[in-house]
Amino acid sequence: MVHCPNCHFKDLGKIGSSQYYCWRCCLEVDVQGEVMSVFQVEEDGSLSSLDDLFSSEERQLQDSGLIPKASG
Ligand SMILES: [Zn+2]
Repeated sequence: MVHCPNCHFKDLGKIGSSQYYCWRCCLEVDVQGEVMSVFQVEEDGSLSSLDDLFSSEERQLQDSGLIPKASG
């Protein structure tokens, strides 16, 4: 499930095969493998990358680091 890295909203609008839009933040989220890239949509329609604002963990699709592994 793709979620917004900024507000953690999960009901993102799908605008492309791997592109989503958070209408809460007005951010575009592009999914590349298991990593999300975040863009701010400017008034003229251009995109500004916001990846620098989020850690790699925050941009992971799955919170794999937080899920305990079944062992033993
Ligand atoms: Zn959001």
